[in-house]
Amino acid sequence: MTNAIDVERARAETPGVAHVIHLNNCGAGLMPAPVLAAVLNHLRLEAEIGGHEAAERAVAAVEHCYDAGAALLNCRRDEVAVVENATVGWDMAFYGMRFAPGERILTAAAEYASNYIAYLQVARRTGAEIVVVPNDAGGQLDVRALENLIDEKTRLISVTHVPTGGGLVNPAAAIGRIARAAGVPYLLDACQSAGQMPLDVEAIGCDMLSATSRKFLRGPRGAGFLYVRTETLERLEPPFLDLHAARWASRERYELRPDARRFENWENYIAGKIGLGVAIDYALGWGLQAIRERVYALADGIRARLAALRGVAVHDLGVEKCGIVSFTVDGHDPHAVKRGARAAGINIDTSSAFSTRIDMEARDLQLVNRLGVHYYNSEAEIDRFLDYVEGLAPRS
Ligand SMILES: *Cc1c(COP(=O)(O)O)cnc(C)c1O
Repeated sequence: MTNAIDVERARAETPGVAHVIHLNNCGAGLMPAPVLAAVLNHLRLEAEIGGHEAAERAVAAVEHCYDAGAALLNCRRDEVAVVENATVGWDMAFYGMRFAPGERILTAAAEYASNYIAYLQVARRTGAEIVVVPNDAGGQLDVRALENLIDEKTRLISVTHVPTGGGLVNPAAAIGRIARAAGVPYLLDACQSAGQMPLDVEAIGCDMLSATSRKFLRGPRGAGFLYVRTETLERLEPPFLDLHAARWASRERYELRPDARRFENWENYIAGKIGLGVAIDYALGWGLQAIRERVYALADGIRARLAALRGVAVHDLGVEKCGIVSFTVDGHDPHAVKRGARAAGINIDTSSAFSTRIDMEARDLQLVNRLGVHYYNSEAEIDRFLDYVEGLAPRS
């Protein structure tokens, strides 16, 4: 380990660790102090001098969000749109595509519900078809199967990088190589991967990528972003426009903004945008490689120790497994496990088939417990969590 995380400093800079053992970073990460300060300072300025006037003073900080996004993803700042959340970002890209009857959308088994619901709506509207690429023996999207499924009707490859309900990491770059070779647009939902591992759109080869502020990036809620490759920009029609996305050039005509901000709209959460920029800087300051190393190691340890408990099953798939851990405890409803953990000062969550139906039906799962560990979590916190689960499991 070249760049090991200074956990003491990470914790000192995370006010929340004084209050709770937070293992719900896949729901929302705890904001670090610099992010919290940036958001609060701007809200205070809005209250003191007026919202529009505060925004004028904050132009540099707001603009920095695009530079930070570009540095995070290895893209250009004009390829970044900052929007309300990952879903809006993803929707602006997906609903910006046109589909003809019989054209195919290739996706993965662990696809996120919101994305799949959008496929269903568009399929119903246009006659496009949804094709779910099977998993390989390791539980990740089968890259060979994807390659074989591509034909002249394939209009889009749209995949979730890290699904919401478990540790799986889909082979994003291998998928990108196939998409590029076939000349098929590639949309990547990086909502759970952003902030816990490096993301390089050149190495991945995606044309569009969506992510959120609040999860592993530890930014404020109510912000997300979309990357659209410059060459792809003109192939998408923003599904709705306003006076920020376009200019009313004459009575009969409007002109789209030349950059990815054509997917934004005028009113937005300025404090959140500033906070997102600071959160990205903060993550880059630790280094995404170093973050990934610690997150993966902590999660691997949790999986091994959970699996060793009687009556506890770990459900994570994948060749590469990340910081999300899914599990169930025999005879214990996951909602009750979550409530009990909360009462013990530990935040974990549940994940249901309503979020990743195809994957969970295939495995005959309805509801699991889910946690997302982050680099600021300590070994002592993890011990406390495992003690709690051990207390639930039937004893031998
Ligand atoms: C949370 C999540 C989303 C939605 O992100 P929002 O910022 O809440 O819109 C999308 N995809 C995946 C895989 C997620 O886990």
